[in-house]
Amino acid sequence: MSILFSLHNKRVLITGSGRGIGFLLAKGLAEAGAEVIINATTEAGAQHAAAQLTELGHKAHAMAFDVTQSAAVNAAIEQIESQIGAIDVLVNNAGIQRRRPFLEFPEQDWNEVIAVNQTAVFLVSQAVARKMVSRQRGKIINIGSMQSELGRDTITPYAASKGAVTMLTRGMCVELARHNIQVNGIAPGYFKTEMTQALADDEAFTGWLTKRTPAARWGNPEELIGAAVFLSTKASDFVNGHLLFVDGGMRVAV
Ligand code: NAD
Repeated sequence: MSILFSLHNKRVLITGSGRGIGFLLAKGLAEAGAEVIINATTEAGAQHAAAQLTELGHKAHAMAFDVTQSAAVNAAIEQIESQIGAIDVLVNNAGIQRRRPFLEFPEQDWNEVIAVNQTAVFLVSQAVARKMVSRQRGKIINIGSMQSELGRDTITPYAASKGAVTMLTRGMCVELARHNIQVNGIAPGYFKTEMTQALADDEAFTGWLTKRTPAARWGNPEELIGAAVFLSTKASDFVNGHLLFVDGGMRVAV
């Protein structure tokens, strides 16, 4: 593999990687040579996913913690760095969705969405970036969304949290680039995962989606791997503060 896109001798932590896009990114980054650390909220979930990658011949570790709990985050990052090794790349992938019209949206759900999608990006990035600054190198990839820029019915809190991911990405870039740390984002369009199962099951939604997306189809989660490899490797050493849309052209179409 070209040295530009190799993750050989690199260690990557992916939050929320027990399933879905996070798991596929962990698998794809491992195939590019990385040693990966799987994070899930439960020990069993993290172990199960890590074991699947180990069986495929990859170097994978499990680290269960809730990304919204600052004490747990800080303890986990210390443990990873002291027992497994330095984190070269952090992928902030953990995310949740709640759908309800704005006028009826419960405050509790708002708080949960903001905690996972926004506050956790701040908490995990801060803990990992402190280590990266001491080494004067590192890469952080934040998983945004189409809703980092576009609103949509019934998911205003999610859109607010993903909009914040754009500005966390830009702000961290501004403060960390001088330490040779690149902070970028990936904004997926619509991909079939458990998060979007209700939409995938809705024929009317799929009809709308295929008309609305220039590529005229759902995204396949594996199609996010290339962007993650690019933003994790030497290939992107002067790319900073960027949000890379992987959306079949949806964002640029009306
Ligand atoms: P998913 O629900 O399958 O996966 C989300 C993961 O985050 C799960 O493994 C879950 O356990 C984990 N998670 C949730 N709360 C957590 C917490 N407090 N601590 C640790 N882990 C936690 O969904 P997905 O579709 O794979 O989504 C992954 C990311 O991609 C999310 O940030 C989501 O917003 C984003 N995204 C998805 C799509 C899509 O079409 N599926 C589109 C745009 C953006």
